[in-house]
Amino acid sequence: MHPDLKDILIPEHRLQKRLQELALQLKSNYADKEPVIIGILKGAAIFLSDIVRLLDFPVQIDFMALSSYGTSTKSSGVVKIRKDIDIDILNRHVIVIEDIVDSGLTLQYIIDYLKKHHPLSVSVCALLDKPEAHKTDIRIDYLGFEIENAFVVGYGLDYSERYRNLPYIGILKKEIYT
Ligand code: 5GP
Repeated sequence: MHPDLKDILIPEHRLQKRLQELALQLKSNYADKEPVIIGILKGAAIFLSDIVRLLDFPVQIDFMALSSYGTSTKSSGVVKIRKDIDIDILNRHVIVIEDIVDSGLTLQYIIDYLKKHHPLSVSVCALLDKPEAHKTDIRIDYLGFEIENAFVVGYGLDYSERYRNLPYIGILKKEIYT
């Protein structure tokens, strides 16, 4: 385990097993729809690249990058788009791939923004959810894991751009970020 971590919350084998289950769910709903899969950078990059390789049906892939104003461990929901989508999503089925839903404000902003482009549907596939932290009534259609209200890193998630490459999800020691 990385020395800055208090614990490993989700080991690599559980992540990979859950991804296979999520891929089957996506297949049953999207196999004949060629959805546009939109990953939210940078946190969802690893989750997206693993899950799309488990999908044996046609998909298109795009990315959005946002900057969120808040502290280093809490987003405020005030969001600016730093990289917009390139694919036209008019009349397309869209799946947003997000790393983690905390307050839910970032995701709410993304969904509202994408709906302005008149897609046929927008669904959300998130690896992690902290239900206790929600500040908005957000629906996650495909969820990896519900987790406790702790600050986690690894498998794409960072603190100060570190730890994204850890192959598991871990809880960061409080003294590292306080
Ligand atoms: P929300 O808008 O839902 O409060 O925050 C969502 C974003 O905040 C996530 O996409 C992620 O970038 C960041 N975030 C929220 N909780 C955590 C966490 O526990 N660890 C890390 N590394 N980022 C988090």
